Amino acid sequence: MTQPILFLSHGSPMTALGGDTLTRIWSDLAAQLATPAAIVAVSAHWTTHQPTLGGSAQPETIHDFGGFPEELYQLRYPAPGAPALAQRIEKLLADTGIASRIDAQRGLDHGAWVPLRTLFAAADVPVLQLSVQPELDARHHFALGAALAPLTADNVLIVATGHLTHNLGEYMRGKPRAQQTVDFRDWVNEKLLAGDSEALLDWLERAPHARFAHPTPEHFLPLFVALGAAGPRHATEALGGGWVAEVLAADNYRFSAT
Ligand code: ZN
Repeated sequence: MTQPILFLSHGSPMTALGGDTLTRIWSDLAAQLATPAAIVAVSAHWTTHQPTLGGSAQPETIHDFGGFPEELYQLRYPAPGAPALAQRIEKLLADTGIASRIDAQRGLDHGAWVPLRTLFAAADVPVLQLSVQPELDARHHFALGAALAPLTADNVLIVATGHLTHNLGEYMRGKPRAQQTVDFRDWVNEKLLAGDSEALLDWLERAPHARFAHPTPEHFLPLFVALGAAGPRHATEALGGGWVAEVLAADNYRFSAT
C-alpha cells in the first residue's frame, strides 16, 4: 500500500473540540484514507536546531498552549509510538547526509494530535514526530522530505502540519483579513496546483508578502517536507480549509507521487 502525503493547516487548539470547517475536511479525508502502518507527523510546534525524531514507545499528549478552556487539557491522543521506525528514519536521513537524533521522551504536540484525533480517531496507528528547524531554509526541509519518500511505499503516512499563512499578530489584534495574506495564499495555492516546487522553494524571494504571511517560518516549513516526500512528479489535490478567524489561511492538501 502506497500512502499519499498530507499538508494540513491545523487551526487553533480550539479545533480539537470539532464542529468547524477543518474537522469536517479531515473527517471527509479520513473516510478516503487507507489505514497506514504508521504515521510520521512533522509539526510546526516542535522546533529544534537539529532534526529530531520522537522515539517514545507511548508518547504523551502535550498540551502546548495556554489560556484555553479546561476541556482541551483533558483531551488525550493515546496512539502508540514507533521507536523502530524512528531508528529507520535516522538511517534514511544519514544516508542523505542529514544528521539527526532521537528523543526518547518527546510526546505529541497539538499540531500533531489535533488533526490526528479526527483522521484516526481510534488512536491505534503508531505515530512519531519529526521536528522542524526554523533557522534552516526550505531546501533543507525539502531534503528531509525526500529522505522520507521511500516510507510512503511501505504504507507510512506523512502528515506535515502547520498553516498556509500564520501572522499571529494580525490574529491576536482581531484585524480584518489583509490583502497581503490573500495574495500570498493565492500565490502558494497556484504554485502547488501547478506542481511548481522550484518556485515554492524560493518563497521568501518570490512569493508576495512572504514575511507578512509568515513573520516566523515554522508553520510554513512543514509544507516543504511534504513536497520533498511527494517527489519531483506528483499530483496535488486541494482539500480546502478556508480561514481561521478570517485571517489565517487554513488550506489543506493531499500529494500523491506519480
Ligand atoms: Zn500551530
